[in-house]
Amino acid sequence: MENIFIMNADQRAILETVARFVKEEVTPRAAELDANQDPERSFSWQIVEKAHAVGIRTMTLSEQWGGLGTDSLTTAMVIEELGKGDLGVSVIMAQTLKIAQIMQKALNAEQQARVLPGFAKDPRGMLAIGITEPDNASNYFLPYPTPFRTSAEKAEGGWVVNGMKHFISNGNRASYYLVFVQTEKGKPMAEGSTCLLVERDRPGFTIGRVHDKMGERLANNAELIFQDCFIPDANVVGKAGDGFNVLAEFFPQSNAYAGASVLGVAGALHQKAIDWAKVRVQGGKPLIEHDGIRAQLAEMRMLIDASRSYIHRACWLADHQEHGWDRTLGALPKAMASQAAWKIATWCMEIHGGHGYMKEFGVEKLVRDAAAFLHSDGVNRTLFLKAANFMFRD
Ligand SMILES: Cc1cc2nc3c(=O)[nH]c(=O)nc-3n(C[C@H](O)[C@H](O)[C@H](O)COP(=O)(O)OP(=O)(O)OC[C@H]3O[C@@H](n4cnc5c(N)ncnc54)[C@H](O)[C@@H]3O)c2cc1C
Repeated sequence: MENIFIMNADQRAILETVARFVKEEVTPRAAELDANQDPERSFSWQIVEKAHAVGIRTMTLSEQWGGLGTDSLTTAMVIEELGKGDLGVSVIMAQTLKIAQIMQKALNAEQQARVLPGFAKDPRGMLAIGITEPDNASNYFLPYPTPFRTSAEKAEGGWVVNGMKHFISNGNRASYYLVFVQTEKGKPMAEGSTCLLVERDRPGFTIGRVHDKMGERLANNAELIFQDCFIPDANVVGKAGDGFNVLAEFFPQSNAYAGASVLGVAGALHQKAIDWAKVRVQGGKPLIEHDGIRAQLAEMRMLIDASRSYIHRACWLADHQEHGWDRTLGALPKAMASQAAWKIATWCMEIHGGHGYMKEFGVEKLVRDAAAFLHSDGVNRTLFLKAANFMFRD
C-alpha cells in the first residue's frame, strides 16, 4: 500500500514541473494582475494556456482522455504548490482539476464522450460548479429544508431552467458547468434537486456580474443567469431529483483541495516572515535571533505541517474510502488550513512591523488572499456544524 507520508518519484517530478511553472509564469505577474481595478483584467488566459502546455490543466483526466490520471493526494500537492505562487491561480486550476475528476465518475459514457475530448484539447478549457445562490449558501451545506430558487420545469425532452447562481469560481471563464437546480417543487433541496451539465453557449444562459473581490483576484467569480434556458434530458447528471447524491458521492476531496489552496498562501506567508526576520535588524541583531520571533516561526511551521497532514489524509481516504473514510474529513481540513493561514497572515504582518502594512512589501496581498477561504467552499462555522451533524446524527 502506498505511504501517504513519503512523496514518490512521480509526485516529485510533477511538483518540480509545477514549481517551475509558478516561478516562471505566476510569481513574476501575480502582483501586477492583482492590482488591476477591474476584476476581469486580473484574470490571465496566458497563465491558463501555459498551465495547459505543461500538463497541469488536464492532469486529473485519465490517460484515456489525455491526462495523467493524478490521484487526489497528488492533486492536493499540486494545488498547494500553485497556491504558494498565487491563490487565484491555484483556485482556477483546483476547480478545473476537481470537476474534471468528478466528471469522469458522475457523467455517463455518452456525456463523457461528448465533453471530455473537447475539454482536453482546449488550452482555455475551464470548469465551474454552480450551487450557491443569493438565498441559499450555508443552507445547502447543512442542509436546511428549503428548495433552491433556481428551478427547472419539465418540458418535452428536457428541462426549462430559470434563476441565478452567484459567487461562482470560473463563472465567466468556464466552458462547462455543473449546476444544481430544483426540479421537484414542494420538496427540500436535498430531496428535489438535480445536477445539470450546462455548456457555455447554451441559449438562455448568460453571465451576470463579475464580482469585485477583496483577494484571490487572479480568479474570477461571477453570477450565472438562466432565463428560459432549455437543458436536454441528455444533460442530467445522475438521476433527476438526485442532485444531492451527486454532491455527497462525487465531491469527497473538494474540501481538502480548498484547504490545499489556502495552505499554499500560508506557506508563502511563512517564507516571507522568515526572509524578513533574517534581514531586519532590531535590538542589535536580526529578528530571527530574538526568541519570541523564532518561537512564532516554529509555531507557524507546526500549523502548516499539521494542516497538510490533515489534507493529505483526507485526500488519500477520499480515494480509498474502504480504509476508513469519515465524512468529517469532507468538512474540517479546509476549516483548519484556513484558520491556520489567517493566524499566520496576522503574525507575518506583525513580524514585518509597519512594513507589513505597506503594499510594496507584498504582505498585504497575501493577507487579503488568506481571508478568502474563511468563507469559500463553505463558511468555517457552517462546516463545523456540518461535521457536528455527521458526528452526532444519532
Ligand atoms: C471566493 C469565493 C468563491 C466561491 N466559489 C463558489 C463556487 O465556485 N460555487 C459555489 O456554488 N459557491 C461558491 N462560493 C460560495 C461559498 O461556498 C459559500 O457558500 C458562501 O460564500 C457562503 O456565503 P453567504 O454569504 O451566503 O453565507 P451565509 O450562508 O449567509 O452565512 C452567513 C453566516 O451565518 C452562518 N450560518 C448560516 N447558517 C447557519 C445556521 N444554520 N446556524 C448557525 N450559523 C449559520 C454562517 O456560518 C456564516 O457565518 C464561493 C464563495 C467565495 C467567497
